[in-house]
Amino acid sequence: MNPVRVVVVGGGFAAVQFAKTLRSKLRASECDILLFSRENHMVFHPLLADVAGASINADAAAAPLRQMLPGVECRTERVQRIDLSSSEIEFDDGNGALTRLHYDHVVVACGAESNLGIIPGMTDHAFAFKVMRDAIELRQQIVRQMESAEAATDPNLRRWHLSFIIVGAGFSGVEVAGEINELVRSSTRFYRNFHKEDVVVSLVHSQDQILPEVAPKLREFARKKMEKAGITMLLNTRAVAATHEGVELNDGRMLTGATVVCTIGTAISPIVQALDVPKERGRIRTTPEMRIEGQTNAWAIGDCAYIINAFDNKPAAPTGQFAERQGRQAALNVVRILKAEPTQPFRFKALGQLCSIGGYQAVAEMLGVHISGFVAWLLWRGVYLFKLPTWSRRIKVGLDWSWDVLFPRDLSFLNTDTTQQATHAYYRPGDFIHRQGELARVFSIIEEGQVEVLQNSPTADTKVVAVLGQGDFFGEGALLGNRPHETSIRARSAVRLRQVGSALFSQIASSFTPFRELLVRAVTRGSGDFWRRLPISKAMLEGESIASFLDPLPAQLLTKETTFADAINALNESPTGTLLVLDEKQRLWGTLDRGDLYQIIARIAVTSAETRGDITHLKLSDLLIPNSIYVALEDSALVASAAMLDHAITWLPVVKSKADPRPVGLIRGEKISKRMIERMAQSQPPRAQVAS
Ligand SMILES: Cc1cc2nc3c(=O)[nH]c(=O)nc-3n(C[C@H](O)[C@H](O)[C@H](O)COP(=O)(O)OP(=O)(O)OC[C@H]3O[C@@H](n4cnc5c(N)ncnc54)[C@H](O)[C@@H]3O)c2cc1C
Repeated sequence: MNPVRVVVVGGGFAAVQFAKTLRSKLRASECDILLFSRENHMVFHPLLADVAGASINADAAAAPLRQMLPGVECRTERVQRIDLSSSEIEFDDGNGALTRLHYDHVVVACGAESNLGIIPGMTDHAFAFKVMRDAIELRQQIVRQMESAEAATDPNLRRWHLSFIIVGAGFSGVEVAGEINELVRSSTRFYRNFHKEDVVVSLVHSQDQILPEVAPKLREFARKKMEKAGITMLLNTRAVAATHEGVELNDGRMLTGATVVCTIGTAISPIVQALDVPKERGRIRTTPEMRIEGQTNAWAIGDCAYIINAFDNKPAAPTGQFAERQGRQAALNVVRILKAEPTQPFRFKALGQLCSIGGYQAVAEMLGVHISGFVAWLLWRGVYLFKLPTWSRRIKVGLDWSWDVLFPRDLSFLNTDTTQQATHAYYRPGDFIHRQGELARVFSIIEEGQVEVLQNSPTADTKVVAVLGQGDFFGEGALLGNRPHETSIRARSAVRLRQVGSALFSQIASSFTPFRELLVRAVTRGSGDFWRRLPISKAMLEGESIASFLDPLPAQLLTKETTFADAINALNESPTGTLLVLDEKQRLWGTLDRGDLYQIIARIAVTSAETRGDITHLKLSDLLIPNSIYVALEDSALVASAAMLDHAITWLPVVKSKADPRPVGLIRGEKISKRMIERMAQSQPPRAQVAS
């Protein structure tokens, strides 16, 4: 008889324990076990903070799956889809082809993903703390910031490099804050230009207590010890945005710092999202024995599963100790099914909690006993050393920890060239992206939002001379000409940019001729050149307010929810063929004119019929690109004219103010041109009569 094929999706605590237990219970002739994991190693998460804090090496906290799991076929491939109806998985074979594989039983153990997208700017400016790469990159960043602080001559800049902000004071936030604090403060003796007092480590937490999972006495102990070690606690405080400068808090304060670590926010794995099975807050609902509800040969365990613990009839916590027990017991249940025996519900009494807080201190709750301080720290190290999955890892971690006690932490880092990188950046309204006279470091493309171009002149105040919106770019002139910026750029709304470092930009621009030509055209074209030739008109428009050109709002205002069919009817009835689209707060969200229709139809044509559904019911939010360019009543007519010239458009929406983007009317190019011509005619001296 052919062996039963069991496919495991995942390579974490739950998957490894499942595969190990199943292999120990069934021979290879009885059962084939295939384990698919994106990485070829299991990450031991409780030690990630030690990796970031340079007290152990990264390889000590990552155990190779195939060496841990003899007798299990380990595949480093990403599973794309699980087809429960045909009992097949679909995976990426690494060469771009999708392969299908039949299973007799499948075990979904793919954990959860980190999701920094819950706070604007976090994805662009903060470090996540979930996978090994996060910990390695964070360690590099910490040491890089110390090197930059050493080189900085401006004390404010030095302090910024030495300021570290950790968002979230659960287990991982507290542990990583403790480790960063320890690494930086214990290393100051190797630097000449800064001292312990210059280091700022802040822990931002939305509740009034850190570590909500542990007993109040232990929480209080942890908070006091961490504060004594120099960590600033910002409790009852939420991070609302992250930028290049630091973190904006819900009370409006800006906490500045070069390093932001975000330990909050999880997302459901895409393959779990795609599974059409009962779920609870995104996690897969299972029966007590851990089969997916409604399935006979599909199981879910670990952080991706919603499992009721028969011990207390409560949902099992998403922690490593629960994931391991679920893996073990699910494997035993599969064996029971294959042997036609009754299965057992998941039942587990949590053993306790352990959290290291830095400085050889920890808090621990073990079997109801509360321990804190150095003894708890020894217990923490002992338990995790014992829990590491292999002897080779135990010895490695043990040696690293002993080294850490005897010698200073390792301050070497790989210097990556940031001018070679392409990154994202987020700015809040009013933030400067660069200032006139600064050296150009990046080429920026606007992905979302609007910026304004400002120019200082020796004779007049700083003036807004243009606005740029989604799809526009800036920085190319200074980079191509190898000169400082001639204008400043300031965010007008919340802005998301794609930024390309100067070296990478030069490489692309020099090797890719069409791109270079496009940039050269962009530098020479546009409103700047136009106004240089018409200085009188420029001066006149600079002094004219937008209000004097304002046309009323269109009679019918659309919303994001308006259907495509209704939008076409509205366009037909509109005398000007220009319409505005509002969001739920009545703010300007987009624009629609007859010219957009072709683009919308082209966009519909490239969507699959399945996702598209009935065209007439599609909403504008699915079809239009939001954040169209607009001007505010406080802008001058010159800004409106420049925006229309730069974007080759003939009209623009006008909003109440930059801070309150509710539309108040429209401004049209022909009206401005008419006024310009009238003024030019008035300003010309009367022609002398020529005698015949
Ligand atoms: C920093 C940190 C510290 C923590 N400390 C503790 C602690 O001290 N004690 C504790 O009990 N818990 C701790 N936890 C929680 C614990 O790590 C998780 O609960 C546990 O890892 C969950 O195990 P899992 O097997 O469900 O998922 P994971 O361990 O996250 O493993 C998921 C696996 O699935 C793989 N995968 C995902 N999608 C696919 C796909 N499509 N194809 C193939 N493979 C895929 C991933 O590569 C990964 O190997 C910590 C977590 C973090 C982030």
